[in-house]
Order: sequence, then structure tokens, then C-alpha cells
Amino acid sequence: MKRLKIVFSTIILATLILGLFFRAGGTDKKYESTEFLFDTYCTITAYSKNAETAVSAAFDEIARIHRLTNFFDENSDISRINKAKANEPIKVDPIVIEILETALEMDRESEGAFDVTLAPVSMLWKFDEGEPVPPTAEQIKTALAIVENGGIEVDAESLTVTKLSDETKLDLGGIAKGYAGDAAAKVLREMGAKAAIVDLGGNISCIGENPNSKDGKWRIGLQKPFAPTGEYSETVEINEASVVTSGTYQRYFEYGGEQYHHIIDPSTGQPSRHEFDSVTVVGGSSMQADCLATAVYVLGREKGAALAGKYGVDIYFN
Ligand code: ADP
Ligand code: MG
Repeated sequence: MKRLKIVFSTIILATLILGLFFRAGGTDKKYESTEFLFDTYCTITAYSKNAETAVSAAFDEIARIHRLTNFFDENSDISRINKAKANEPIKVDPIVIEILETALEMDRESEGAFDVTLAPVSMLWKFDEGEPVPPTAEQIKTALAIVENGGIEVDAESLTVTKLSDETKLDLGGIAKGYAGDAAAKVLREMGAKAAIVDLGGNISCIGENPNSKDGKWRIGLQKPFAPTGEYSETVEINEASVVTSGTYQRYFEYGGEQYHHIIDPSTGQPSRHEFDSVTVVGGSSMQADCLATAVYVLGREKGAALAGKYGVDIYFN
């Protein structure tokens, strides 16, 4: 039996509001809004006098980042790179340069566990098709060779990206949403939001103090993998920070009694297999936490913990 299941990660993590009264002053208004971006439901809640304007500006910024990085939009910067020939410098938005520089650093630091040039392989795993079938060993081998022989050069001065092989393709699925979380938080702060929570389908960024809790802390429930939505395995208590989860239960299909999910181990071209089903990273930068969640998943407990230690973030396996 083949079955496709996509559970939007928005509904995977949720805030637990335990406080009883508001800390924010009487002039601070709460405003909350949800939009569908990055293939998921994104919710922003902000507390400030002009909360509505701030949230709307934050969504504009998220939409702009999505347009630039969307693999499926043929006019995005990423698609322009993907369609380009080798040695042809492609001029891109500074945002794309910033994301790719972090991606390359993560690739180095994780010894290749996080790899944004993995698209030729990840494209073989067609999670969005009605009845997906795993690719053959031959297809994976060919795609892995493209990844190994390719790569990109990023020039921050000329704002260009150059592919090393015609076939090289980028997939920012493991980092762009994280960048958008940081960018939205920055807009909200600039527009005077004293407190806010940005939830981009499981990438959560908390700003300021939680006005609904006595101690000002935010409490984020970590969804128990494959359990009904809202059933948490634990709750993390944080001040200003990002909480990002990469889980197998978010996007997978079943074929021949096996589950195939969307976090790919670049050393095999296959979904990364472990005894845990999700990794949550808590750290200061949402972009960093996003990459690290994927990288730690691929690396597993021991090597993953070493990488997390290098970046000073907390990790949770579920
Ligand atoms: P999401 O938050 O959308 O569920 P994750 O942050 O968990 O996504 O990252 C998974 C996505 O990242 C995949 O859908 C794919 O686009 C991409 N990806 C998969 N494996 C890797 C990898 N090893 N390195 C970098 N990106 C990856
Ligand atoms: Mg990720």
C-alpha cells in the first residue's frame, strides 16, 4: 500500500500559555494573523500599539524571502541559479547570498550532513505525488555523482552565485524558512513589537517576554512524533530564542511497508534512519537552528551533539 501523508508542521509545535494575566501595558494590543507561505501555515502573534501594521510588514518580508528562494517558482533567484550553466555568474539578492554563505558554512561544519546542493537527489524523492515510489539505486547513484562533482561559489562582493557543473541544483528547504524567521523577528522589533511569536510551520521564534506568563518565559510544546497533534513529549521554557524541529513525521510516504521521509542523508542519498523521529534545536538564530536541526538529524545523537555544542545550542531528540 502506498500512502502519502503530509502533516503541516504548524500544527506540530504549539505554545502552551500557562500564565493568567498580561504583563504588557494597557496600550499594547494583541494581534494575530495566519498566512500560507513556504508551503505551510505561518502564524505571527504580536503585542504592541501598532501590532497589526507590524505583523503585516513581517509577512511582507517573509513573502519576499519565499519569492526569492522558492524552488518551484521559475522566477525565483534559486530557479535562475538552477537553470544556469556552469561558470555563469548569476546575480542574486543579498538575502540569497547571506543564506548560501550560512549554508556553505553548515556544510563544512557538519562534514556534509547539511548540503543545499542535494537537490538532484532530493528531487528523486517525490513526496508531493499521489503515489510516490522510491527511486532506484541507479538513479540515486547518478544524482549523488552530480552532487559530488558539482557545487557553487558565492561571491558576496559582486552578489553572484556560480555553479561548478551544469547539473548542480540548489534546494533551500532546510534553511530558507529559518532565515525568514529571523528576518520577520527583526521587522517586528524594528516596528516596536515588545513581544511576539513567529511560527513558520514548526520554526518558532520568540521575541521579548511572554505577556501571558508571570515569569515572561515562553513555553513551547514539542510534538510527540506520530501522536495526535497537540500531544507533547516535553515542553521547553525559553526567553528570547528560536525553537526549530526537523521531523520525519512531517513529510513522508509509505511504500512496501517502509516509511520514506524528507531528511536525506547525503552520504547515501536515502532518508536518514535513526531510532528517533525528530530533532529540536533551541538557539538564538532561527536560520542556524533550522540548518542544525536537519544536520543533527542526519548525524545522529553523538556527532549531532558535538555539532550542537560547537554552536552552543540545546538539542532534543524525540
Ligand atoms: P521543514 O521544516 O520544511 O520540514 P526541514 O528543516 O526539516 O524542513 O528540512 C528538510 C528539507 O530540507 C527537505 O524537505 C529538503 O528540501 C531539504 N533537505 C533534506 N535533506 C537535506 C540535507 N541533508 N541537507 C540540506 N537540506 C536537506
Ligand atoms: Mg531544517
